[in-house]
Amino acid sequence: MKNFITPNFVFADIIPEKAQGSRVWDENGNEYIDLAGGIAVNAVGHCHPELVAALKEQSEKLWHISNLYTTRPTQELAEKLVAHSFADKVFFANSGAEANEAALKLARKYAHDNFGEEKHEIVSCINSFHGRTLFTVSVAGQPKYSKDFAPLPTGIIHTPFNDIDALKKVINEKTCAFIVEPIQGESGVLPADTAFLQAARDLCNQFQAALIFDEVQVGMGRTGKLFAYQNYGIAPDILSSAKALGCGFPIGAMLCSEKYAQAFTPGSHGTTFGGNPLACAVGSKAFDLINNPATYANIERQNQLLRSELADLCGENQVFKQIRGMGLLLGCVLNEQYQGKAGDFVKCALQEKLMILQAGANVVRLAPSLLLNDEDRMEGVTRFKQTATKFQAA
Ligand SMILES: *Cc1c(COP(=O)(O)O)cnc(C)c1O
Repeated sequence: MKNFITPNFVFADIIPEKAQGSRVWDENGNEYIDLAGGIAVNAVGHCHPELVAALKEQSEKLWHISNLYTTRPTQELAEKLVAHSFADKVFFANSGAEANEAALKLARKYAHDNFGEEKHEIVSCINSFHGRTLFTVSVAGQPKYSKDFAPLPTGIIHTPFNDIDALKKVINEKTCAFIVEPIQGESGVLPADTAFLQAARDLCNQFQAALIFDEVQVGMGRTGKLFAYQNYGIAPDILSSAKALGCGFPIGAMLCSEKYAQAFTPGSHGTTFGGNPLACAVGSKAFDLINNPATYANIERQNQLLRSELADLCGENQVFKQIRGMGLLLGCVLNEQYQGKAGDFVKCALQEKLMILQAGANVVRLAPSLLLNDEDRMEGVTRFKQTATKFQAA
């Protein structure tokens, strides 16, 4: 097939056509088990009937009205996010990068307004990922995503993840924000240490800097609680969400405390599509499906079953050395002899009709539906084990 899309994407050689729950079918009618969830997006599986109904219903009422107005679905979703988090206010965007862009701009503006322009430094972690706008690739600590687009925004300092001593050396009076993923997703499903997040919280308090948690990947139930920070008991000042927020309908959000919200004075930031009623109607229904005890119980149960079933694949003569992560974000760390081959494993899995992800070169990542059922999990694990056997033989 002729490909009309710019070559920054490398597509698999199957074309998905339809999907339901944790199953996907390609154009040739092949059936796949999806343990990737559209990269941690399809958090209640594909085409959940209640989301389809919410989208249909809203699509016959109002699609878009500009942000000269607010709408009921917009307020409803914002109210739910506020009621179940540290936040007092919400800014809606269309993606994770835009949610982070809003978070970073808000932190800069708050510091400018209250302390002056000297207080502008943003601290972030090496190997972090925050999106693909110029500001977010610059802030993220992965030069491979930013160096070709220089000159880059300045006033950004990178520090090693989970290194408290290093953090103490870079947060000071000039810092306006420290941004961190509670679990580094793209770089290998690496959870932050509680002590590191606590040190970050304390340093941000001491120097009046904003603590920003990027929960684009780990928020909205992924870790077994609504937001990942709730596992740590350490709240940020600003939080970004996207991916699972719309469960497949594009939407992002920046949540913040009242104190920071006040810096976004009328006209200081904006978006054409952010907060549109279609996305918010879907997001509001998705919120209810995610934020309920049965879903959290399923996440915990499937986490334990997956971990114990995949444990067979860990050990000296096996493909993996460790399974890590939280809830339904799991990273299977490749053994020494397979370093750099996570992409090959993922390709091999697709041949076994299994959709999974990599997270960096050495980690195979699973981010299935939070409503994953036993039948689909067991079939997925069977295919995962077949993949491991073929991969080892190759
Ligand atoms: C995916 C991701 C982003 C970027 O989200 P987009 O919707 O692709 O812009 C930002 N931060 C983290 C942690 C992510 O996983």
